[in-house]
Amino acid sequence: MAAFKDISIFITGCNRGVGFALVKQILSLPDSPKVLFATCRSLKSDNSRELRELAEKNPILHLLEFDVTNALQLENVVKEVEAKLAGSGLNLLINNAGIYDLKNSEYGVVSCTLDEVTRDLMMKVYETNAVAPLMIVKAFLPLLRRAAKDPPFQPQATVVNISSDDGSVALNVEGGHYQYKCSKAAVNMLTVSLSLDYAKDGITVVCVDPGWIKTDMGGKAAPLTLPQAIPSLVKLIGSLDLSKTGSFLQYNGNTMPW
Ligand code: NDP
Repeated sequence: MAAFKDISIFITGCNRGVGFALVKQILSLPDSPKVLFATCRSLKSDNSRELRELAEKNPILHLLEFDVTNALQLENVVKEVEAKLAGSGLNLLINNAGIYDLKNSEYGVVSCTLDEVTRDLMMKVYETNAVAPLMIVKAFLPLLRRAAKDPPFQPQATVVNISSDDGSVALNVEGGHYQYKCSKAAVNMLTVSLSLDYAKDGITVVCVDPGWIKTDMGGKAAPLTLPQAIPSLVKLIGSLDLSKTGSFLQYNGNTMPW
């Protein structure tokens, strides 16, 4: 993908953290996209206020309410995106929404060790981090295929699955964190399968570790700030093409070990 000029982009989990920073960074680029669909779980809650304010100032930014685990909402969101694209395809899909340990959730627990991990926690994190991205790609496949065929951008359809170094089996030297590590390892595997299945359609599929960043999930000990990591991540995404399909990359372009 030669940067973002005149393309259509869809990103999940945009009200805070990496997702919100991605939206802000893409909107600040001189080559702006044609349309940027930014989704979040609730457009009414206080934690989406900054995103709503950004949309008021940016006509290309379209906000959609979307819980990535909600199949009915996914169907409706795809219909809304298709209607807005009016015959064009979707050029870039970024599966960013994710959870780590549900410590601020209805579970009210931090689960890392085998003692602490539960079936419910495994299933919930796996559903959000691994099942949802796959179902989202499946639902958007016709629009991605359309974008890959649309001249003059051909091939111009890319899926970026936000993974983590925690999804790397090779880098797992501390154990624990069962729910998160397994979910991100699954993201890596489904990325490779998608890349193999859809290269023939001109669709690039990669997984990317955004770096350990200070966000609600990354925590205060993280070495990177969003302004340090996100411009590099956006530059990397803008440089992707089919030659990179099936890769596991770090935000700075380095190849990650599986
Ligand atoms: P945050 O916890 O700061 O933000 C997570 C985002 O995902 C929020 O917008 C949240 O929405 C959204 N989200 C969670 N569950 C759902 C859901 N079911 N439906 C829709 N949206 C949902 O995390 P980060 O921004 O740090 O992480 C973003 C991505 O980057 C994740 O995939 C994460 O695994 C990955 N990552 C992050 C690292 C880091 O150091 N920060 C390191 C490696 C990977 P809501 O406000 O509604 O909860």
